[in-house]
Amino acid sequence: MRLSLAAPAKLNLTLDVLRRRADGYHDIASVMVPLELHDTVDLEEAPRLSLSCDRSDLPEGPDNLALAAAHLLQEETGTRRGAHIHLTKRIPVAAGLAGGSADAAQVLLGLNRLWELGLGRERLLELALRLGSDVPFCTLGRPALAEGRGEQLQLLPPAPALHLALVKLDVPKSTGDVYRSLSPERLGYTSLPSEVMDGLKRKDPAAIARGLGNTLETVMFERFPQLEAMKRALLDAGAVAVGMSGSGPTLFALSHTAEDAARLAAKVGRLASWTTATRLGWPAAALSLPDSAG
Ligand code: ATP
Repeated sequence: MRLSLAAPAKLNLTLDVLRRRADGYHDIASVMVPLELHDTVDLEEAPRLSLSCDRSDLPEGPDNLALAAAHLLQEETGTRRGAHIHLTKRIPVAAGLAGGSADAAQVLLGLNRLWELGLGRERLLELALRLGSDVPFCTLGRPALAEGRGEQLQLLPPAPALHLALVKLDVPKSTGDVYRSLSPERLGYTSLPSEVMDGLKRKDPAAIARGLGNTLETVMFERFPQLEAMKRALLDAGAVAVGMSGSGPTLFALSHTAEDAARLAAKVGRLASWTTATRLGWPAAALSLPDSAG
């Protein structure tokens, strides 16, 4: 048996880093939304576990989060079944769009089905968190307010089809490093999550635009002034609002229409390492957790 699944990227409309915890992680509050932009995860039953990927710069061994998810399922359930996983990457790597987490989430949900493991919602969420802070969100299939390390998830209504351009600049980043370099006076709210959640509910891009904010933006802009210059260029080119997703370096520019988003992406394309136009959504070929309609 085989499954071909979509693994949607994650975008942080807001990201507030609230406090450093004793375990070294930070408590956050973030309005996260899934995008139509997605990787494809093909799963096929096989005697053993293996992985291949259309990008030669990604690991194909246990360092690949998708394969790590499959190993974790085997260890936790004792199943002797195997599978070959093939990844077709469209989400840029180390971009703040949770590509690895998205792949891992679809492997968890897909192998639970392919191997007939019958794991329920709570167990899948627990395994997801062991793989990474963004993986639980990537199993939901809809927007959510994420708190704690990212595992306390409050489901929000399905996202309106908001259009946006994604723009990634060629700057190095380390997520851990960006968090560690946050001085205490930077911690706290810079965004208005309730405004954004209300905007999502009312399908009102202007309200969403008013509430955007990301604690890590200042750190990344100080390190890489070209990011701030790009934000300004996108606003000058007519973006409704511009934010940064996760720890960057991908910026997103909200637009009124698909045509506007494509025009913005094309306009700044030569200054960026990657651009695309996409929208909020959840592709039909993506699995989501059982009982997540609530
Ligand atoms: P983070 O903020 O956690 O770094 P991100 O969204 O910025 O996440 P990802 O695309 O998930 O970035 O990749 C982060 C790292 O994970 C990369 O260094 C990459 O080598 C590694 N990685 C492991 N498996 C995958 C995968 N399936 N897809 C993408 N990256 C992967």
